[in-house]
Order: sequence, then structure tokens, then C-alpha cells
Amino acid sequence: MKKEKNIEKIQKTNMKINYNYCMEKELEHFTNKKTILLHSCCGPCSTAVISRLKDYFEITILYYNPNIEPIEEYEKRKKEQIRFLKEYDASIGFIDIDYENERFREIAKGLEKEVEGGARCHKCYYLRLQKTMEKALENHFDYFGTTLTVSPYKNAQMINTIGLKIEEIYNQSKNSQKISFLVSDFKKKEGYKKSIELSKKYDLYRQEYCGCMFSKNEIYRNKK
Ligand code: SF4
Repeated sequence: MKKEKNIEKIQKTNMKINYNYCMEKELEHFTNKKTILLHSCCGPCSTAVISRLKDYFEITILYYNPNIEPIEEYEKRKKEQIRFLKEYDASIGFIDIDYENERFREIAKGLEKEVEGGARCHKCYYLRLQKTMEKALENHFDYFGTTLTVSPYKNAQMINTIGLKIEEIYNQSKNSQKISFLVSDFKKKEGYKKSIELSKKYDLYRQEYCGCMFSKNEIYRNKK
């Protein structure tokens, strides 16, 4: 399947795309391992994704999550991510980016009341995937991708559309190296279930809310 053309065609019809199938088709063509810079939102989500991709890629995890608040929560999730990598497979690379919470706050301005999955989240995914593409370019990776689609609470259609858009924008420059976005829907094929099992096995901390204070407040409001 010629990824870009076919996906673009289906997107125009507003049909739901099976991104897991698209990923499998893409992986079928691999004759050797490629490099991937994989954005990870947290240790638990990375578990099943790494286990799914490790036979196809040399994986480096990028921890860029300026949306996680407060900073203590951000540090806690990062620590768990690092611990998991060490215990699961110490050969997996790890790139840590400074906590740019002010950037997240800027893009979230005016969208504070949006529900989870709405316009604020769209910008939040874009911010994180854009940084992943930039770092992938800087470090000459073959692919960039994200663990975000392992969560059943996140919109895989939205995340993949953003990833493909970023791929298109950054690959327009004739001089730069071409980097592909790995489309995915990691929750499929029991991916989410596997992430829970692996998180239990490695005794990972699993957060109760998505990341920003708005999502934390939404959870508490709903609980009430
Ligand atoms: S709810 Fe999650 S994805 Fe949406 S803006 Fe907040 S941290 Fe980002």
C-alpha cells in the first residue's frame, strides 16, 4: 500500500481508517531494522508499544511532555519511564527534553474549558509530535512515532492525521532528510490490555488523569 496516497484519499471521505492495518502493511516491507524516535507519554503506555515494535526498529524514546502538571507529577512519570527502560531493555535509547510547561500553557490559552479529546488536545498532540519530528531530523532517524494511540481514551484518527500532516510539512524542504511518521493504533490487537499487564509486571505507577491540570480537574469533577 502506498501509504500517503491511500491514507489521504480515505481521509478526504471522512471514513475511519484502520491505522493498525496500515502500520502492519508498512512493516511487512521492512527487510532490515529501521531507526525510530518514539515519543512516549509515560512508562505504562510505552510498554506494549516497545514490545510490539522492537523486532522492526532500533528504538529511542523521546520524553517530551510539557503538558504534564504539576512538575512533581511530570518528574514522577519520567522516573518511571526511565526505570522501565532500564529493567526491560537497557539498549533502548532515551532522549529527555526540558520541561517547557510555558509552551503548553501558551497553546492551551482560551481552551481551558475544552473537554478531553477536543481542540486543546489537538494542539497538545501537535506540540509533542512536532518536537518529535524536529528531534528525529536533528538525529537522522528513519521514522518518528508516538505511544499515544495505545490509550483507548485518545483519538487515534486525530493523532495520526496530525503525525501525517507534520510529516508532509517537514518533508517539503528539498534539502532535508525525509522522515516518515509511523501511523499506528496500538490499542488494537489487545495492545491496551498488554500495556496494563506489563505495567503490573514492572510495578509501574499508572496515573489517574491524562496530564494537564484541566484534565485533572475534569476527572475530579466527574468523580464528584
Ligand atoms: S487532556 Fe491530555 S492531551 Fe488533552 S491537553 Fe490535557 S494533557 Fe494534553
